[in-house]
Amino acid sequence: MATVELIDIVKQFGGINACDGVNLSIEDKAFVTLLGPSGCGKSTTLNLIAGLDDATSGEILMDGSRVNDLSPYERDVAMVFQQYALYPHMTVAENIGFTLRLRKRPKAEMRERVASVAELLELTELLDRLPRELSGGQQQRVAIGRAVIREPKVFLFDEPFSNLDAALRVRMRTEVRELHQRLGATSIFVTHDQEEAMSISDQIAVMRLGKVEQFGTPEDVYARPASKYVAQFIGSPRMDILEGRLDASDEGLRYLTSETAFALPELLANRYGGLENPVDLGIRAEHIRLGGAGTPAIVRIVQPIGPETHVTIGWDNSVETLTARVPGIAKMHPGDKVHVSLDPDGLQFFDRGTGERVMFASGP
Ligand code: ATP
Repeated sequence: MATVELIDIVKQFGGINACDGVNLSIEDKAFVTLLGPSGCGKSTTLNLIAGLDDATSGEILMDGSRVNDLSPYERDVAMVFQQYALYPHMTVAENIGFTLRLRKRPKAEMRERVASVAELLELTELLDRLPRELSGGQQQRVAIGRAVIREPKVFLFDEPFSNLDAALRVRMRTEVRELHQRLGATSIFVTHDQEEAMSISDQIAVMRLGKVEQFGTPEDVYARPASKYVAQFIGSPRMDILEGRLDASDEGLRYLTSETAFALPELLANRYGGLENPVDLGIRAEHIRLGGAGTPAIVRIVQPIGPETHVTIGWDNSVETLTARVPGIAKMHPGDKVHVSLDPDGLQFFDRGTGERVMFASGP
């Protein structure tokens, strides 16, 4: 059992606040990902949890007790890094069992536990090989095995799949997720890859400039982003954001941009209540409808990606574009005239100044 709590964590390097007041409460057995662009403080946060570095201020609690002054060993955490850092002259079995050897565990126990971890990670056939005789994915599995055998309270993963090719990354995600389901140990995973975070996590902490901007389930951060930053960081294609204004007139409620206008449901006027405040309109590709009635537009780019096609539309000489997700192979071509409408369920509005979400049309 291991909960992890970060309270107002600040970490300064010279004049830089790598962590600038990180607050996070991680439940026992949760798989939590720290997600954000390069330099937002993910690795620093993970290193502080591991005890590899000291916080400038703030508290780190594990199972409710302060661990700031404990060594990594005393915290009982195991870390898996991007660099596998296996001992090159040791076999897979020796690499996995190394910690037990340091702890002077009996040989029989070592053999048994190495065998059971190897089975868990499908390494049984490879136990006598040296690291240089393994693929990148197999080496990373050995590194994970070295962490698993310690039976730590908390697993920490720092971009463990960055060195692997795209197909292997996807496979390793599934393996780590399965491993977590079987072991049920609290796990904290760092990545800058939003798709990886979405597919592997119970909860995601989206970080920005040394702070947690939003902490929620993958569904929360995707469907109910706290800010424009989160909305655009999560999801591919990126959420489109229009910088226009709401307008209520005889023509009904509309969103006007410098180039065009979209009809919105009247209901929104009541829910928003402050038409004079400038708000950006965000909409995801699956909520943009092409065909039928709506605002006239021109197809600019058609990108078939297999099960669906991403169709980017614009207006005469416009810089503004929207990208729609169309099921299957869309029979559209650049230059085609289409009509576009925005699904009311997918409308999101963001304060232009702060970037915070100010209203969500179909929910709280
Ligand atoms: P990446 O995905 O590139 O690893 P990150 O989100 O993990 O990025 P951190 O490595 O935590 O970011 O770094 C956060 C900030 O702190 C960056 O501006 C970085 O340059 C700075 N920083 C990190 N470690 C040190 C250090 N040892 N000395 C000085 N500055 C540092």
